[in-house]
Amino acid sequence: MANSVSRRDFLKLAALTSLNLSIPPLAKSADQLMQPQQEKQNVLVVVFDAFSAYHISLHGYGRETTPNLARLAERAVVYHNHFAAGSFTVPGTASLLTGALPWKHRAFRFENGVVESYVKKSIFHAFESYYRIAYSHNPHVVRFLNQFAADLTTLIPYEQLLLTGNGLVQAFFKNDDDIANISWSRIMVKDKGLSYSLFLSSLYKQYNENKINAYKDIFPIGVPTIKGDDHYLLEDAIDWLQDEIPKFPQPFLGYFHFMPPHDPYTPPHDFFGYYKNDGLEFAGKPQDIFAPVRPFDFMLAKRREYDEFILYLDREFGRLFDRLESSGLLENTWVIFTSDHGELFERGIQGHITPAFYQPLVRVPLLIFPPGGTTRTDIHTPTSAVDVLPTLLHITGQKTADWTDGVVLPPFAASAPDPGRNVYAFQSYHSEQNAVLKQATGMLVKGKYKLVYYSGYYDELGAEGKLIQLFNIESDPEELTDLSSSEQEIAAVLLAELKAKLAEVNEPDL
Ligand SMILES: [Zn+2]
Repeated sequence: MANSVSRRDFLKLAALTSLNLSIPPLAKSADQLMQPQQEKQNVLVVVFDAFSAYHISLHGYGRETTPNLARLAERAVVYHNHFAAGSFTVPGTASLLTGALPWKHRAFRFENGVVESYVKKSIFHAFESYYRIAYSHNPHVVRFLNQFAADLTTLIPYEQLLLTGNGLVQAFFKNDDDIANISWSRIMVKDKGLSYSLFLSSLYKQYNENKINAYKDIFPIGVPTIKGDDHYLLEDAIDWLQDEIPKFPQPFLGYFHFMPPHDPYTPPHDFFGYYKNDGLEFAGKPQDIFAPVRPFDFMLAKRREYDEFILYLDREFGRLFDRLESSGLLENTWVIFTSDHGELFERGIQGHITPAFYQPLVRVPLLIFPPGGTTRTDIHTPTSAVDVLPTLLHITGQKTADWTDGVVLPPFAASAPDPGRNVYAFQSYHSEQNAVLKQATGMLVKGKYKLVYYSGYYDELGAEGKLIQLFNIESDPEELTDLSSSEQEIAAVLLAELKAKLAEVNEPDL
């Protein structure tokens, strides 16, 4: 059993010690844990949620959204055609963490974890000889991390890197730890329903409101929010990482999943309005069959806020990278920068909750920074989120995971990439986890072609319930021309492969 710390355990632990939540538990315990093993290199995975590669200047976007990433890319392996395995957090992150495609881990719906047989098939299990630590701003990812907790040395509680939900005790009861501990537990165990004390509860609410008010000038359209009243500052989370990462016992595997640029897009005043009237024009695209019709101006406004929110995470990632580099840690650490899925502001779709798989929804950044790297390598072959796990095992000299659907990424693989390789994404967000999937979208990218197959959408598509799209993503990266009619032979070959795959995991309906 690992020393995973659930929120409740953390609170219990806090109650037994002198409670000072501004000092994370790691700061005190790192020295007492295992000694560094210099021969093994560390791995730091940083995920920014809902970050579409389509919106990254490094990949040709018209707005300079990522000056820091562009600067740092000069020492990285940059993947230009990297695909998430799903278009929202649940399948996307589960595939990143397990190296398996969605129809295997079967995390399809918002409330799904991975199936029981994948609980011991995560990246944390694969790195069993490492100090493994993880944090997520996104509660859907916290669910996975809780599932994988036995393979984590330290699971940082969700509340720890929030703006609210932390720090009340020191503020009110700094001279009396006993009262502080009891109060904290009674106020904070929110998931039991009513708080113990109405008095403290209202104090807590007021405290949080005051805390948020203090940041309203910095964030003109809202302090960054996860859900409801869970607010966060990426600056604080990055500060915490900067301080703590150098104290992690080595070798370590760190997985840190942060919310920006996920909706709601709330850029700080440094960036709010940055692209206003920048004159950049975006071509109208065909309306998606599944999407509501939204005003074009609304889409443009949301796109602008999203792009300005990207500037915020780019600044903070740059700050983290520079600090870790100056500490010397990056001489012995692989840094992985990626996302769980993309985002869309076209065709009537705003966000990523849609049956569709257009490129901005599934193309995500992947940059791998080798230890002490000084040169840039560009990879254009299609790659998948499921490749990250086997690649990290390979580059750190460990045995492969026999369950993965991924391959070792170029340029690290011994052989050249297979040009006929199939890259899949899949979603079925209304389906029962263990039942036959009645409604699903599958994507298959093979070389320059991308096939998307919709099945079971009777309300939108009529009695057949099916739709096929085929794009040449090399010559038509904006996916303006559906080739499913004009290139029927290619569509048929790819469809047969995709259907065979679906049938394999889903006898007999799809
Ligand atoms: Zn997400």
